Amino acid sequence: MKIAFIGLGNMGGGMAANLVKAGHEVIAFDLSEAALAHAEEAGCSRATSTAAAVASADAVVSMLPAGKHVDMVYGNEVFGSAASGALFLDCSTIDVATARKVIAAAASKGFEMVDAPVSGGIAAAAGGTLTFMVGGTDSAFERARPILSAMGKAVIHAGSAGNGQAAKICNNMLLGATMVATCEAFALAEKIGLDPQIFYDISSVSSGQSWSMTSYCPLPGIGPQSPADNNYQGGFATALMLKDLKLATQAAHAVDASVPMGNAAEALYQMLASAGEGGRDFSAIIEMLRGK
Ligand code: NAD
Repeated sequence: MKIAFIGLGNMGGGMAANLVKAGHEVIAFDLSEAALAHAEEAGCSRATSTAAAVASADAVVSMLPAGKHVDMVYGNEVFGSAASGALFLDCSTIDVATARKVIAAAASKGFEMVDAPVSGGIAAAAGGTLTFMVGGTDSAFERARPILSAMGKAVIHAGSAGNGQAAKICNNMLLGATMVATCEAFALAEKIGLDPQIFYDISSVSSGQSWSMTSYCPLPGIGPQSPADNNYQGGFATALMLKDLKLATQAAHAVDASVPMGNAAEALYQMLASAGEGGRDFSAIIEMLRGK
């Protein structure tokens, strides 16, 4: 299949390479020369613009920073240049409202489109082990599934347009809140005089257990290997967690939902990012809560 890939940064670069490995012809476009050069090394061919990349493609995959980029790229370039019958897959993490708006605009021009944000970071993008949460019609989902399967280990239909983004931000709001709560509990245990390893041994088999504790423990030397063991480098950056929490609270505002834990997590991650720690793994919030 001929696939246009728009946005070949940290995530898109690895994803496009996996489409090439699966035997697809991938035509790449990015505003960054360095990203395009990497894509070429991975076997993609380079286009001079989004419009040129999509012109003869059977499908268009995008992996862009935010909703405004997705809105602009599809509205200004993809819709007017794509071949009739082309399928669009936006894998960026963006706000639900923009995802629904762009997919509705695609439908009004006769194109099928899904929102398909991912769980998993740069290593999962490179390794082809992402999880895709997909919003769109049954027909669009069935067409998207084989393309997404070449880039991931799981492809799950979350419902109608925008529901992929809804699943992603609800999941990450839960993750942000449980990480903060886990860090608070470790910090409190330590101050009271409870050994963190003993607290882990008890809580990891008790009702306080969560993924943040047992798969991604925020303290070094406890539980399985995690970014805490690497001075909070790698993993999921605080700035990206903050982005997702902002999207979650924005969506909550739009539907008048009450998300006090999400709001608290957003405020705390904003403090961490404002202190210049946006590039560190999000579990580094334990250092702020311990007063370090
Ligand atoms: P990135 O900044 O590394 O890549 C984005 C790319 O889009 C850049 O190369 C940029 O030049 C390109 N771009 C921007 N505007 C463009 C335009 N108009 N036309 C063509 N190219 C354009 O970001 P990333 O880390 O790859 O993240 C991409 C998306 O994936 C984001 O929505 C992010 O939230 C999401 N995501 C990232 C991670 C992660 O760990 N990095 C994990 C899950 C989801």
